[in-house]
Amino acid sequence: MTAPYTELTQRLSDLAAIEGALGILQWDQEIVMPSGAAEARGRQIAVLSVLAHEKLTSPELGALLESQQGSKDLDETQTANVREALRDHRRAVRIPAELVRAWGEATVAGHEVWVQARKDNDFHAFQPILTKLVDLARRRAEAVDPHAPAYDVLIDEFEPGMTMARLDPVFDELKAFLVPFIAQVRAAGRPVDTAWRTSHVSVEDQRKAGEAIVRSMGYDFSRGRLDTSVHPFCGGAGPDDVRITTRYKENGFTGSLLGMIHETGHALYEQGRDATVGDQPVSRARSMGIHESQSLLWEKQVGQGRSFWTWHFPKLQQAYPFLAGISLDDFLFGINEVDFTNLIRVDADELTYPLHVILRYEIERDLFSGALPVADLPEAWNAKMRAYLDIVPPQDRNGVLQDVHWSGGLFGYFPSYTLGALYAAQFYQTAVREVPGVPDALAGGQPGPLLDWLRAKIHRPGSRWLTDDLCTRATGRSLDPQAFIGYARQKYSRLYRLA
Ligand code: ZN
Repeated sequence: MTAPYTELTQRLSDLAAIEGALGILQWDQEIVMPSGAAEARGRQIAVLSVLAHEKLTSPELGALLESQQGSKDLDETQTANVREALRDHRRAVRIPAELVRAWGEATVAGHEVWVQARKDNDFHAFQPILTKLVDLARRRAEAVDPHAPAYDVLIDEFEPGMTMARLDPVFDELKAFLVPFIAQVRAAGRPVDTAWRTSHVSVEDQRKAGEAIVRSMGYDFSRGRLDTSVHPFCGGAGPDDVRITTRYKENGFTGSLLGMIHETGHALYEQGRDATVGDQPVSRARSMGIHESQSLLWEKQVGQGRSFWTWHFPKLQQAYPFLAGISLDDFLFGINEVDFTNLIRVDADELTYPLHVILRYEIERDLFSGALPVADLPEAWNAKMRAYLDIVPPQDRNGVLQDVHWSGGLFGYFPSYTLGALYAAQFYQTAVREVPGVPDALAGGQPGPLLDWLRAKIHRPGSRWLTDDLCTRATGRSLDPQAFIGYARQKYSRLYRLA
């Protein structure tokens, strides 16, 4: 290892320490902070954020990174570490300070305006600030890479390497399967008594049952915590302090339970980072889509599947006596049932969710190409809802105004959710092919064989390879929506008794 590379890792480690401290401050703000501390906390977070930005954009760091890029003295992991850090550094230095400031102000204002506009069901009130945010996002993209289409640069922030040229055919293939298949499942219907889903379960009982399941999945409580928050998340301060949260509904225990399994999937990824490279960028999660693949693999492929509940359902029946007379089949139907009239993305089931995402992706793509003016968003939204899901929101608050993302300038983020579902299916399918004992082990309460496969193929590699390379090394091929399509067709044909 060369002296400049050692200095480089020390600087990156300092940066990670500041980001870790920010993670704990934000966690504290959501979980335990007294409300009177809000203003002081805002200042603490702002100062630390500026410090982190200064460290990331410092000319000394830039010079070290440039000097190490392509160095023959570095091994494969170190070379990848330089590549990842250089990417962060370049993105940060290319956006001028004036634009950073304008962006900060617009996103704060955007959120406030959106909260009120959604309450008032008034898209016109939101339109001016949204127009401004789209314009600023386009300028940010041009600053980062003036040669690429703006929306590609925005997607790349969350999904390095992903482009519209790659996404369009993948999403078109998925849509071509889902739209007629959902209509077919809807026509078939299936009356199953699922009243048990709204049975009363105390918060304490839910916490106990949930914590037991989280622990059984391999989550390390000596390097993590489980708490309650309004919006569930996985946060903390690096791989040795990975904190998850959930929320409880006393008349809807399944949401909290599956939510905990979801966040545990994120947490296992973070706890499974390669300890030999510490907190360096190369050990980080590959992308938002790959992060979501880990939460969705555990939540959907495993946690809404038969093998997992073969072991856990009898235990849940003991904890919750109202489940005593429910069959495993009916329980599985209940946690997978498709809601054909649901308008809201965050409430959507596994089968309809990708269409909510594809709708948003297509709208964002057309916004940034200039094909769709901001003023036409509600109309475009409703037309796509009708075409894809055969339902139309009666009000914009249940339609185009429902998501927080655009109010904070998060454009290009939505595709990651569905990329996560596609990668999850492809990873799980490959894990079962390579380790055929995985389903039986899950049915025996043993997640070890599956977790070992994920550790080796996804968690420890971190950001060592680009996403497509990671996927090909793990599964033998690039991203391919057919794994999800085959899985969904088989699962929902069985649940809805299709021929
Ligand atoms: Zn997630």
